[in-house]
Amino acid sequence: MNACTSPTIQDIFCDYGDEYLERFGPRMPGNHRKVLEAIRNCRRGKYGYTVYQCQKCRKCHFFQRSCGNRHCTVCQKHKSKQWLARQKARALPVSYFLITFTVPESLREFIRSNQRACYNALFKASSGALKKLALDPRFVGTDMPGFTGVLQTWGRQLQYHPHIHYIVPGGGLSKDRKQWLSSRKNFYLPVKALSPIYTEMFRQAMAEAGLLEHIHPKAWKTNWNVDSRAVGTADTSLKYLAPYIFKVGISDHRIVKVEDRKVTFSYRDKETKVDRICVVDVMEFIRRFLQHVLPDGFMKVRHFGFMSPGCKTSLDKIAELIIGLSEETDRKQRRPLKRDDSEMLDDDTIHCPDCGGVLVYIAAEIPTLTGSIILLA
Ligand SMILES: [Zn+2]
Ligand SMILES: [Zn+2]
Repeated sequence: MNACTSPTIQDIFCDYGDEYLERFGPRMPGNHRKVLEAIRNCRRGKYGYTVYQCQKCRKCHFFQRSCGNRHCTVCQKHKSKQWLARQKARALPVSYFLITFTVPESLREFIRSNQRACYNALFKASSGALKKLALDPRFVGTDMPGFTGVLQTWGRQLQYHPHIHYIVPGGGLSKDRKQWLSSRKNFYLPVKALSPIYTEMFRQAMAEAGLLEHIHPKAWKTNWNVDSRAVGTADTSLKYLAPYIFKVGISDHRIVKVEDRKVTFSYRDKETKVDRICVVDVMEFIRRFLQHVLPDGFMKVRHFGFMSPGCKTSLDKIAELIIGLSEETDRKQRRPLKRDDSEMLDDDTIHCPDCGGVLVYIAAEIPTLTGSIILLA
């Protein structure tokens, strides 16, 4: 790798992956190994090719296929845009809140060793606390609030810092589901009251999982930080959340250089909002990156209450209740946020590198254990 050009995370995995495997391979969890292999082989031929033809100059172009692994830094950007477009179509015309649930530092080591059970418990406890307090008539008084949570495990320097961000439309449905009960515009629920409910629910979940005895009793006495802020419209809150959905701890643009086996990357200081740099040994960099690989199949984005796909009252119906329009009104007029979708999805079009014409998918060649298969359009 040339130190003069900006290295990517894939470069780092290509150059140092073998050494990492040699030194830590026997102790590596299988899913970490899978991610390492996926990243260093993404769009480098191992996953086959797709063939596109230009509609203008008729020339065929071959593209190396990506690995599709959700922890891959090469793959992530595109998906994030599609997700954002889908969520925008689900936006409601109310004030939104961003609520974050963290865990005390003393518990992080334990969580890292029991990821699946603990991540599930974090979702259960935080969503349970939100639902329980939303019931209180002093706040929203709804038995059907709705929100979307995303688990994030990293801090700015790639350190292990598990927490869940929720985007929460400010209100909920009445018991008969015929009315929208609005929260206050700049206040959803008191975090001081959320925190002990969340802590206790996590404790219960640990007891159910048979893990309680491994946690120091002091952990239940410390303050579990919960943060809530009014973020305005759905649009603003989604823009805030979207980067967390498909990003994996760090993106290429933050890698400054790799020199003398040291990776230099930038991060924004939380307090001062000033950009700083962090320098770590390249093995430590790979270790920090891989500790954020989620257990296989773990769902890190979850919808609850009226935001969940299983809710009997549709989001269209809820939007109607909020605006108080009749059922005959045209859907699109009532949901102005939807108009951005087409712009977002236009990005999917691939253009000819020679003439700029639109490329159309012709076929894909995908390697398998017994040889390649060809998929025609
Ligand atoms: Zn062309
Ligand atoms: Zn990939």
